[in-house]
Amino acid sequence: MKTPDDVRFTARSYDFLPYVDCPNWIDGEFVPAESGNTLEVTNPRHGKVMGRVADSAGPDVARAVAAAGRAFPAWRETPYKERVQVLFRLKRLMEAATDELSWLVSHENGKTFEEGKASVLKGIECVEFGCSLPNLAQGQQLDVSRGINCEVAYEPIGVCAGVTPFNFPVMVPLWMLPQALVSGNTFVLKPSEQVPYGVMRLALLLREAGLPDGVLNVVNGRRDTVEALADHPGIAAMAFVGSTRVARAVYQRGTATGKRMLCLGGAKNHLVVVPDADPELTAQTVVASSFGCAGQRCMAASVMVAVGDVQPIIDRMKTVAEGIDLGKDMGAIISPEARERINRYIDEAEAAGARVLVDGRKAKVDGAPGNWIGPTILDGVTPDMPAATEEIFGPVLSILHVDKLDQAIALENRSPYGNAAAIFTTNGGTARYATERFRAGMCGVNIGVPVPREPFSFGGWFESKFGHGDITGYDGFRFWTNPRKVTSRWEVATDRTWMS
Ligand code: NAD
Repeated sequence: MKTPDDVRFTARSYDFLPYVDCPNWIDGEFVPAESGNTLEVTNPRHGKVMGRVADSAGPDVARAVAAAGRAFPAWRETPYKERVQVLFRLKRLMEAATDELSWLVSHENGKTFEEGKASVLKGIECVEFGCSLPNLAQGQQLDVSRGINCEVAYEPIGVCAGVTPFNFPVMVPLWMLPQALVSGNTFVLKPSEQVPYGVMRLALLLREAGLPDGVLNVVNGRRDTVEALADHPGIAAMAFVGSTRVARAVYQRGTATGKRMLCLGGAKNHLVVVPDADPELTAQTVVASSFGCAGQRCMAASVMVAVGDVQPIIDRMKTVAEGIDLGKDMGAIISPEARERINRYIDEAEAAGARVLVDGRKAKVDGAPGNWIGPTILDGVTPDMPAATEEIFGPVLSILHVDKLDQAIALENRSPYGNAAAIFTTNGGTARYATERFRAGMCGVNIGVPVPREPFSFGGWFESKFGHGDITGYDGFRFWTNPRKVTSRWEVATDRTWMS
């Protein structure tokens, strides 16, 4: 077993590199799963096993929760101003290690280096928000009546847990950790077993930044590990980010044991394009939204609803999409299974009458025999096709045609998801009309990926999120804390002779 000081992440190119094995990280030490079980981690670009990750179960979760429980009293007693110093140092360490982290993300996830870097920089922004918490979290107080004062202070809730998906190995964990840790909680994190190395590196950077042992623990694994976390009575609050099917099940399981739960799920984001949209901006932005990160983003455009005649924009989108250099501008699909699933959606839509305007099914990248699909645009998709309604989670954009804006809004409203929606128009009134009617938590105007950046909070509606509140920004801080309200009366004693 490696010690923390032996672990190096040296990738600085797309060349295949084997990685160290990834054990659990409990109480400041690497430990294997008690069963000794491991899973393969595959580099999606090369389709080759790059390392092995611990496959944990109940006993490992119990061990991590116990470590977090032991660390909680001292961490909770550590003043805010001291706790936050860890994040200031983490920010500097992450900045110094940005290239290392970006290549690491690229190797385990298949993203391009530039996409990996953008996600790491966004992770750093989440850390910055955590750094600002001592200025935001001081609570409030007010004299609510004569001689009566009410104050609220936000207290840590104890041992918390988080479960994260494969698509942003460093960024999504940082949607949770800064607020949870700075506000005094201890944590057990379960990253995706498909991409465990980003969190392994983050844990080591946090150690270097001075986080005491046991404050952050990492248990690797899959369904059993997550269920053990959801069931564990020692965990007070748990956040999950992943697909809707799993988010719903984990939410139900965690709330059944009385936990505070926030579970973000999948998406089917609609972009509505009307005839007065700026052609070049719209074509470039819709294509970037659909094919950035190979469409493996919960904020990716999945459906474009073309209102009236926007054919010149579609023609331009085709040219822009065909100009994407696979392997350089766009990365790989996470697994062969995901690749098959995505291709099936394209095949079925084509068989049902959709036109494949841009076809990525046969795309290959020289020297990289991994899981590839090129940008794919399906035109003439109808609302009954699975490509119009189900989350594909790959580089596939389905175009549907309607005559009127209200029909486009109705199509968006029909989706059971409610993550993101956007309108492309040069008219402010049209933009406002649409955004007020979309049934989505994150709306965009001429923006294809309308992620609310800090201090705003991230989160969808309906089947895209189970639980109340959003995950990043100030909402995240509220999720990981308990507001303690203290109402006090200090009456002046009748006998005050001792005062003079
Ligand atoms: P996933 O649901 O398969 O896995 C997410 C996590 O849950 C992983 O850690 C995995 O090990 C675990 N898991 C898998 N199956 C489980 C089960 N049956 N029971 C308990 N735990 C289980 O998701 P993924 O494939 O890693 O990620 C892609 C999905 O995540 C997409 O649906 C995407 O839209 C969604 N996502 C949503 C957001 C958001 O903010 N709403 C952000 C990123 C990704």
